Amino acid sequence: MSNRFEWTRVMHETKRRHLTVLRTELVAPRMQRITLGGADLEGFASLAPGDHVKAFFPDPSVGEIVTPVVVDGRTQQPEGPGEVIARDYTPFAFRPDGENGPELDLDFVLHADAAHSGPAASWAANARPGDPLIIGGPRGSRVPPRDIERAILIADESALPSVTRWLDLLGDTEVVGLFSTLDPATPSYLSGYAADSREFRWFSGEDRDNRVAEALAALEITEGTLVFLAGEAGSLIPLRRYLRRELGLPKEQVDAHGYWKKGEANLDHHAPLDPSDPD
Ligand SMILES: Cc1cc2nc3c(=O)[nH]c(=O)nc-3n(C[C@H](O)[C@H](O)[C@H](O)COP(=O)(O)OP(=O)(O)OC[C@H]3O[C@@H](n4cnc5c(N)ncnc54)[C@H](O)[C@@H]3O)c2cc1C
Repeated sequence: MSNRFEWTRVMHETKRRHLTVLRTELVAPRMQRITLGGADLEGFASLAPGDHVKAFFPDPSVGEIVTPVVVDGRTQQPEGPGEVIARDYTPFAFRPDGENGPELDLDFVLHADAAHSGPAASWAANARPGDPLIIGGPRGSRVPPRDIERAILIADESALPSVTRWLDLLGDTEVVGLFSTLDPATPSYLSGYAADSREFRWFSGEDRDNRVAEALAALEITEGTLVFLAGEAGSLIPLRRYLRRELGLPKEQVDAHGYWKKGEANLDHHAPLDPSDPD
């Protein structure tokens, strides 16, 4: 099938920004918004819904944030105590002219099982005003094509911040959202985004991923339809296979990203989502 979509890559200045938590808010049962501030946000730019910052968290064993060093152009763990703990987060909103200077919101999923929560989610659950956080990036933005006639957005909780960025960008373009969430109360997260041109379907319960797959298979996907899918990597593989291999859609029309993986800490999202089909 031919490709009618062209994405544009825009690079940004890369620097580490030392920020401070200004406030926190539970915006849905498992979503904690962390508002960060600091003069280092000067010049921050995020142009695309798939953008992410690398956030560096304190290592509890040393009680401070450890950042990597660059040796021969490669980033690596510094010598000395403590470990670099870094995870990827979507810039939910940036306000260059906030009340007390520039502000950046990141929305963190709080893991259901606090005992096995990762360092990023645990940090977000306990963050207090004044706590430090260091971020790097976005290094670049992959700006979506302009001529999207219709979009299908498939996401779990971790990709809902990205979905809000898509909705802002798409305006009154027709959107179908298929959202798989552990907590049936999560739809409140998108309550401010309802519009006649948008249909949001929510799936929770054990078989939610199968129901998303069934709902996707029932949708007509025209040449002008862009499909974004992000969330738990394993659950996206069959959806991506259906879109790319069964329907034969070009890769520019199917924007698929594993944001995390069951049982794996700190998933490398640059690795192919489906190792058996890296294209
Ligand atoms: C481009 C990009 C943008 C992202 N944007 C966001 C965002 O805006 N908000 C957000 O919350 N996440 C986002 N993520 C996902 C986030 O980076 C991962 O969920 C990350 O693994 C969380 O780190 P952690 O320290 O909490 O858990 P880790 O230490 O990485 O993992 C510990 C355990 O928790 C599990 N786990 C990890 N994430 C989740 C989850 N979401 N739900 C349930 N179990 C999980 C792992 O499988 C592992 O067993 C994004 C990822 C990418 C690649």
